[in-house]
Amino acid sequence: MKTNHLTFQEAYAFVQAIKPDANFLLICSRVNEGFEWQLQLYEKMGCKVDVSSTIYKQYRLKNITENCPETGSLPGHVFAIDPNTVHQIPNHDILYRCRKCRRLLFRSSSILPHDEGKGPAAFAHKKVSEPGPLGRAGQSNCTSYFIEPVQWMKAALLGVLEGQLLCPKCTSKLGSFHWHGEQCSCGHWVTPAFQIHKNRVDEVKILPIGEPKNVRK
Ligand SMILES: [Zn+2]
Ligand SMILES: [Zn+2]
Repeated sequence: MKTNHLTFQEAYAFVQAIKPDANFLLICSRVNEGFEWQLQLYEKMGCKVDVSSTIYKQYRLKNITENCPETGSLPGHVFAIDPNTVHQIPNHDILYRCRKCRRLLFRSSSILPHDEGKGPAAFAHKKVSEPGPLGRAGQSNCTSYFIEPVQWMKAALLGVLEGQLLCPKCTSKLGSFHWHGEQCSCGHWVTPAFQIHKNRVDEVKILPIGEPKNVRK
């Protein structure tokens, strides 16, 4: 795929053509059921493995979901760094903090986006396309951010399938998580789900270092 710039489908057809008897991919998929899926993911990432891409993070989380996350042993790399413990944050990142106590909670790079309203079980009884009373053009119907797990969630996630996500400082309720998925207000199912209500957090834009606000006085 990488060398000849083939899509997964093209590569599949090619391998089938040269090895019609021993269906190579079928053998591989018997060894590893997720192999075909992994190749499609590889194609989506432009034939390189980018562990910081949201698509890869989503894949990694889904993988954990399939392997019984409630057993209590979550690999450390699954958790994003707690923005409260680091001082150097890339300038293009937006930070989100608890609306009540202002503790930093996660970075914009931890948000795992989804297509609004798409999904097998979009709410039938709700008109999701209509903007709310305060809705403006282009505003999202999603009332939550779905993010990758952050280090401060570790204790809450251990040994359970679902639960609440509380602010690690003031313990006010921020959202919830469910390894088997939760439905967004737009109707989309997100699996696994680490959901933070938008009205419980505030955005903080970071000023580039060395440019204090009131420099031109
Ligand atoms: Zn708080
Ligand atoms: Zn949504």
